[in-house]
Amino acid sequence: MNKNFLSIHKYLTELPIISSHEHHLETKQQMKLTLDSIFKNSYVGWCSLPASTTKDARSQWLTSIRSNTYFVWLEKSICQIYGYDEINADNWDSISEDINKRHQDGLHHWHILECYANYKKFIQDSYWNPGDCLSNPEFVASTYRMDTWMAGFHKNCLDHDRMNPRMLVDYDMQDLDAYEMALKADIESKMPSICALKCAVAYERDISFKKVSRDKAEKIYGSSPELISDDDRILFGDYIFGYFVDIAREYNIPIQIHTGLARLAGSNPMLLEPVIAANPDVKFVLFHGGFPWFYEVAALAHNYQNVYIDMNWLPLVSTSAAQNALHTFFEVLPDCRRICWGGDCWTSEESFGAAMAFRMVLADVLADKMSSGLYRTSYIDFLAERIMFQNCKELYSMA
Ligand SMILES: [Zn+2]
Repeated sequence: MNKNFLSIHKYLTELPIISSHEHHLETKQQMKLTLDSIFKNSYVGWCSLPASTTKDARSQWLTSIRSNTYFVWLEKSICQIYGYDEINADNWDSISEDINKRHQDGLHHWHILECYANYKKFIQDSYWNPGDCLSNPEFVASTYRMDTWMAGFHKNCLDHDRMNPRMLVDYDMQDLDAYEMALKADIESKMPSICALKCAVAYERDISFKKVSRDKAEKIYGSSPELISDDDRILFGDYIFGYFVDIAREYNIPIQIHTGLARLAGSNPMLLEPVIAANPDVKFVLFHGGFPWFYEVAALAHNYQNVYIDMNWLPLVSTSAAQNALHTFFEVLPDCRRICWGGDCWTSEESFGAAMAFRMVLADVLADKMSSGLYRTSYIDFLAERIMFQNCKELYSMA
């Protein structure tokens, strides 16, 4: 193994990290965790789970999932925290008991993040309670999820997480004016822990947001969902997205946007170019490195100074794709201060695995750049600190 890699990796393990994005479960849910429920609340669970709890079913599942990097990093993390060499059908129940026992004090999930993953802080996206910081404002900042407001022109409209704004706030929303006031009041009530706005509508529609007149949005507002065409539903979302862009400008906070790997037909980051170009004074953070479109994301960040790249989730999706992407981002961006990382996980076990994956990706890329003579040795520490915490701290104005 490259000697530079080993020394850089050691250095990164000791460096603190700020994660720009997590969906960290609340303490009462963390206390119930077992091996099975960690899998269920992880990306491994998005792929498949064992067909039953028999040894045979677990063994078959483990054999098929072992090549997938969601599993690889989660297993590494669980083994390191709980002292096992691997997860297999024979030790499954005993690992599960250990996990549940250790979570009983309600603090174990914070301990993993602080002491194993070396997190200094993270930004929470509680789509079930936008803007929440898990009663831990010292350690947790929050991003305000906008999806439910983009979908909620009527009380029966739900977003892809089965949410409606009227479940979140108790304001009168009889017309569009009142709806906008309720939205703004909710955000203001959760300041100053909110440091960003987050849009994940790529899971339910495309991300080409058009400019829509207030007149048009007023006509749609309050209409029964059965009487509204799909086009009008999208238009209302576009109008509210524009309202959020104004809020981002007013409070000087970035907009985080899910790009890539959702509904593939509509999540190409290039679809965002018009809104990025039309709002040069608003910062747009393109999530997941745009995977699989990381060249497109790099091109957008090359041409527009208000584009930031966030690699959260990507090292788990594909560790080698993350390495290729980071090589490209370093080379193409005119400013290395516009690259961030986050875990994008529900449990601390998976966040620790994500942080391990990212430290490996970053060490590998920096070691390559050094060995090939592209970057001077003296520049490596600066880049490492930028990507691990400094960029995130500055972008989201963290103390
Ligand atoms: Zn996420």
